[in-house]
Amino acid sequence: NRNVETPHINSQKTQYLDTISASHERANATFYTLCRNEELYQMLETVQNYEDRFNSKFKYDWVFLNDYPFTDEFKRVISNAVSGEAKFGQVPASHWRFPDHIDQQKVYELMDKMDSENTTGDYLGLPIPYAKSISYRHMCRYQSGFFYKHELLQGYKYFWRVEPDVRLYCDIDYDVFKSMEQNGKRYGFAISMMEFEKTIESLFKEVKNYLHMNGVSQLLNGTDNLSDFVYDELSDDYTLCHFWSNFEIGDLDFFRGREYNELFNYLDSKGGFYYERWGDAPIHSIAVSLFMQWDDIKWFSDIGYRHPPYLSCPLSEEVRLEKKCSCDPSQDFTMDAYSCTRFYQDIVKDKQKSQGGN
Ligand code: GDP
Ligand code: MN
Repeated sequence: NRNVETPHINSQKTQYLDTISASHERANATFYTLCRNEELYQMLETVQNYEDRFNSKFKYDWVFLNDYPFTDEFKRVISNAVSGEAKFGQVPASHWRFPDHIDQQKVYELMDKMDSENTTGDYLGLPIPYAKSISYRHMCRYQSGFFYKHELLQGYKYFWRVEPDVRLYCDIDYDVFKSMEQNGKRYGFAISMMEFEKTIESLFKEVKNYLHMNGVSQLLNGTDNLSDFVYDELSDDYTLCHFWSNFEIGDLDFFRGREYNELFNYLDSKGGFYYERWGDAPIHSIAVSLFMQWDDIKWFSDIGYRHPPYLSCPLSEEVRLEKKCSCDPSQDFTMDAYSCTRFYQDIVKDKQKSQGGN
């Protein structure tokens, strides 16, 4: 029976896709990548993969930013692969340097200390990634508080962040941006996990100070945000959970808004991007979890996605066959002990039960 029906389904699907490319109205959205010239060929593989799995059907633009000017080769090769318009920009120097209040001597001392301790301490016992990298710290601060201010992103409402070397493993036959818009979603993720504690030791204390100063109660139980994802009431501290920001689909108006920027400016004034090594993922995740409604956030469980070393692969074989996924479900990270996605699902289930929402 299935065999008889399959060609019929496929021809319907092909017709549907033809209709999409002919008359589809796109959302106001773009892919966004920050990368280096040296990453050209890793980036090219990724762009080709995103085009094959998704974008050749929808033709969204793609904004590339770099702290150096992109080479002509980079622009030629990448433009040729992007089906929408590819745009290339440079990060303003003022957004990629130590702010004046930072004591650089202290940064170097603390970096040496972080490097010599040389272990994440909390769970894996691995060296702390990028313990001694200044550029990584500039990058994390840029992705936390500046990318959405770049002129090339100004006209857009949604962005979908991509990095060199990431992969999509399943066909995406629907317009992901449109589905965000139509379902009122403002932040989407594929993978979540726990942060290396040593990189964010004072972050949540500062978040609490900020909230306290402003007399706001985003951490209180019973609010309709996702605070439980980031705030553990028992320890009165950070859960270490964050959405992995190398894949994120977000509402730029949220990041450009007053609430987000006031929090960012406060955190930036505390120096933790440099004295510690605050990542943009915990910053985005904390803000999204506190300031958005819980059901503004979407887990894209249907999108096979990998950023080394972790993979999100749909566990249902039916889904994998239908979407022609090429990932190995036994390698899926979602149920791993250091993933936060089961925790996320539990919180959402509770919210749905008590509010009858979504
Ligand atoms: P990880 O994913 O945390 O291991 O960090 P990555 O090395 O992948 O960096 C995150 C993103 O920022 C990637 O898209 C990189 O290409 C980009 N990136 C990191 N450092 C720099 C830098 O110094 N200059 C530029 N232009 N991009 C960078
Ligand atoms: Mn990366």
